[in-house]
Parts: sequence; structure tokens; C-alpha cells
Amino acid sequence: MSDEGDREARRVRPSLIDVTVPNAARAADFLYGGRDNFAADRKAVSAVAASAPAVERIPAEARAFRHRVIRYLVAEAGVTQFLDIGTGLVPPGATHELAQSIDQESRIVYTESDPMVRSHARALIRSAKSGSVSCVDGDIADVDAIVAGALPTLDLTRPVAVLLLSTLAHVPTTIAAARAVSALMAAVPSGSYAVIYHLASDLDPAMPAAARHWNKTTPKPITLRSSADVTTLVSGLDLVPPGVVPVTEWRPDLAAVAGQDASGAPAAGRTSTVQLVPVHGVVARKPLRTGQTLGPAPLTPPRAGENDSPVGRSPSMAQVQTARGPVEAASLGQVLMHEHVFVLTAEVQQNYPEEWGDEDERVADAVRRLRELPANGISTIVDVTAIGQGRDIPRIKRIADQVPELNIVVATGVYTFDALPLFFWRRPREAMTEFFVRDITEGVTGTGVKAGMLKCAVDTKGLTEGVEHVLRSVARAHVATGGTPITVHTHAAGQHGRAIVEVLKEEGVDLNRVVLGHSGDAVRDPDYLEAMADTGLTLGMDRFGIDHFATFHERSDLVVEMCRRGYAGRMVLAHDTCCYIDWFGPGTLDDLKNWHYLHVSQDVLPYLREHGVRESDVDLMLTANPARILAG
Ligand SMILES: [Zn+2]
Repeated sequence: MSDEGDREARRVRPSLIDVTVPNAARAADFLYGGRDNFAADRKAVSAVAASAPAVERIPAEARAFRHRVIRYLVAEAGVTQFLDIGTGLVPPGATHELAQSIDQESRIVYTESDPMVRSHARALIRSAKSGSVSCVDGDIADVDAIVAGALPTLDLTRPVAVLLLSTLAHVPTTIAAARAVSALMAAVPSGSYAVIYHLASDLDPAMPAAARHWNKTTPKPITLRSSADVTTLVSGLDLVPPGVVPVTEWRPDLAAVAGQDASGAPAAGRTSTVQLVPVHGVVARKPLRTGQTLGPAPLTPPRAGENDSPVGRSPSMAQVQTARGPVEAASLGQVLMHEHVFVLTAEVQQNYPEEWGDEDERVADAVRRLRELPANGISTIVDVTAIGQGRDIPRIKRIADQVPELNIVVATGVYTFDALPLFFWRRPREAMTEFFVRDITEGVTGTGVKAGMLKCAVDTKGLTEGVEHVLRSVARAHVATGGTPITVHTHAAGQHGRAIVEVLKEEGVDLNRVVLGHSGDAVRDPDYLEAMADTGLTLGMDRFGIDHFATFHERSDLVVEMCRRGYAGRMVLAHDTCCYIDWFGPGTLDDLKNWHYLHVSQDVLPYLREHGVRESDVDLMLTANPARILAG
């Protein structure tokens, strides 16, 4: 390969290198004391270093950080595969040399989008015989291409260390950079690592002006990021101590060892002469599985002998809690994943009960309506009524006892579009999480009914402070209880799914157990839904019959389209209906003729089948997906 690389270098160099424009890789080479740089590079570096002298120390500290991290990864973490993205000019002591000096079988893939740099790297690389090194074309903007290029060299069933050393500074927005990290980490197995080295905006006051100056001279501008920004980049991953720190503070104890390498910076005296450099470093690991993150400790540790707790349950014995006790997941049958029995404004009802009328009559009406479900093939509904929607579990239990042929899974959670219920206003976040956990593990006070679903809402206002508080509380209850499923009410047109996913990942939530509620309202946006489903979430096509937002045909056609795109395994169906709701005046919803529990079975399924949706897809949406989400 190296001969081929040499030839490519000779061929590429004259045509592609513009020696009059500074180049980041060549500038770094100059700072390393290399010879692959030109006057423009040296001039740009000198200008920047004049206003921010710390810049001159960056390459040496970057290299020292890389050495310590690679030593940690190979010698302590046992990782011998590296995906080094945006390689630069392969300075002395490159990743492969160091990794193979510790474990000769280490496999390294360098990716670099600049053909000049790539061919130069190829020319220099010599792999140990038992290991493997390659250098492939790849830009951080195209993760799929990077992964495809890495496949011949790396075994993606074993952990990989993804090195993003300075590369992300070339991605202009933190959201895009975080997305790139998350896409890369999605492609590698659990136990893999992300290593990020990032020019800092918040460690040296001279840096922002220096960066602006640099950006005026180069076509490839850089973006500085704060410690908080860098933390965002690794959200959803477990931070290896000490977390996000100036690179000089990342495991300096490894420096003495690293310094013994022929390629490393001399270790002697380092610790006494270390000066801060404006660069953040972090090493983070993809969690082994949900519940094993280093995040907040579970609030309610599983108690010995608590057999019916979901914690530590084996899949073969998976049970789902219903208003009438636990049932086998395999016996749930067809499930409507988002319904209500009653939606009430509890305090108004208590003080002005005349519209609600007679409790016994309301209960009898619900019993009558729910008894029609099993005859139409539905064996289970999830009543996602939470605090803020008039949840009343004793009433639900009374109804469920009269409809034993139907499983009713009840929920815990808080429903707000903005502010917290005042009860929680001045209490620590844990107060809310503890309520949820108690509903799930011990049962709702006085009923013995355990909640089987967590519920919250993100509406048009997005992640307001109160909404985020509830979302995180729900996420923590999910983690603390071993993965209790979550349904998030969303305003589909607001496309808050991405922000929700960020928070859930940060909290270590298993997205496989999460329903993005009301996704079915996004009738004109299957691409958004596709992106959301690709995160592992399940789409709630759960408002059939609410023709105010979208018609029957639009809702049904969206499901047909998503099935056609291969997402039947990522959808569940429901109506979001109820027997009585007091959020609308009497009679105002009478035009919604199809808004009842039987519409999916009677009208939607026949339409889907007529339009090419296979029976196996119907089974997924109504039976297999709900069982997976509810039981794990
Ligand atoms: Zn609802």
C-alpha cells in the first residue's frame, strides 16, 4: 500500500495543493517541527500564536494526550481497534505506532478527506505484521462512508475506539457535531469508546480572537467549544474519569509510562512544567447496556426477593403489569398502545361535578365500551393517563375488574406542556422520580396496581424547564426500574423528537422501550419519522379518529408509507380516545365519528391490508412491538 501511496502522493500533490492558502494539517505539522508545510502555513500559525501564545503548546500537549489515552485504551481497557478520524499528517508517534507498540495485533483505520493528506499518510504508514492499518477516504459529514471504509479492517462485533482529535472543530454547529458522534457510536458495539480532543472557547480568553483571525486566512474554519458543548458531544455515553477536562489534566499519571515510548514526548519533568493549553479532552464509553451507565444511581435499588419487580427479570419470564395484576407478555395479544378511559381536570371535577354526572353511570358506560374491544380482536389497552390528566387508579381498577377479558396497563407520569404542577415546584427533582418509581415497583397507593408505562409530554413549547424536568424524571424512573417503557406525548409538527432523544440518551434510556407519541400526526413528514425511528424509538401512530389534525386517509397512508419503507417494526397503533374528556365542552367533539376504541380494528386495518400492508406487519404493529416495548 505504501508504494501505491507514494505514487498517489506524487500524482496528487502538484495538482491539489494550494501552497498559498494555510492548511490545518500542515500548520499542525509546522508546530510539531515537521517539514511538510509552506510559508502560508507558517505565517498563519505565527499570526495566531502572536495573539494567543498558548497555541504553540497545543500540538505537543495534543500528542501527549493522545499517547496517554491510547495507552489507557490498549493497556487498561483492552481495546485494540481504532478508528482515527481526520488523521492529519500522521506525526511521529501516530496512533498505530503507539497502539501496536503495546499490542502488535492492534488494527487501525485512519480516515481523511483531504486526498493530499491521505496519500501522504499512506506513504508513511508501516503496520506491524500481525496487526493491520489502513487509510481510507472519509469525511466526518458522511459517517456511513467512514464505516464502510473501516469494515475491511475492523471487526465491528468487538469494541472500537473512535478518535476524534481536532476533527469536530471543523463542524460548525454543536448539534451537527453531536449527531456525527452519535452516528459513529451507533455503528460500533457497546463497550466502544469515543475520544474527543477539542479546541476550547472557555479556557484561554485570547482564543476566540485568535480563532477568528485564523478563520480569515483559511477556507476550512474552526469552531471553538466550551466544556459544556463538549459534554453535549458525548451525551448518552459514560464518561471515563476525570470526564471533560483540559487535556493536560486527563490522567497525567499515565504520562510517565507514555513517556517511555520512543515516540512519546519526554516525560521527565512534565508534571512540574505543565501549562494549561486551551483544549478539552474526554474519553467516553458506549454503555454496555441500559441500566449499567455511570449516571445517577438508581433511586430504589431492587430488593432481594422482589420477584415481580421488573428489575433483573429474564426475558423468558417477561411479565407486564396490568390493573388486574401481572400477565405474561406473550399473552397480551393485540394492543392499543395509547388510550385513555377518562381524561379529567380532577380539581374542577371535584368542585363542579355536574357535567361529569353520576360516577356509577360513567363507570358503567366505560365498562360497556371496553367490553366491545376483545370481540374486535383487541386484548390489551395502555391507559396512558398521568398526573395532570385526572388519573384515578381506584376507578380504573373498579372498571378493569368488570372487564376481565381486557388487560388495562396503567401509567405513571406527569402531563404538562410547560410549567411543573406547583406541588413539584420547590421540591428536588428526585421527589417526582420517587413517585414514579413507587408506582412502578410498589404500586399506586391503596390499589396494589403497578404502573406499566411512564408518560410525559412535550408540546408546542418544546423542552421548557418544567417539561425537561418531567422528561428527566421519567427517564430516571425508567433507568431505576430496569427499563419501564416510556410514552412521550409530542406535537409532531414541532419536531421535538431530536431534542427528546438527546435528553433520553443523556439519561441512559433504552430507546427501544420508548414510544414517540402522536407521530402519526406528521402526515406530511415521513422523513422526520424515519429519522426518529432510526434512533430506535417506536412511532406512535396513535390518534386514529382525530380527524381534526389529519384525515383518516392521511393517517392511514402514512402508516402504509412507513411500512413500505420498512418501519413496521417501529410503529404502534392507537386512537388516544377515551370514554369521557372534560377538556372540551359537551358536544364539541361530536363530529369525530370515528374517535372510538374500535376504529383501528374496524376501519384502519382493512384499509392498510387493501393498500399492501402485509399481515406480518400488522402483527408487528399491534402485537410484537407492544410486547417488546412493554416487556423488554
Ligand atoms: Zn393521550
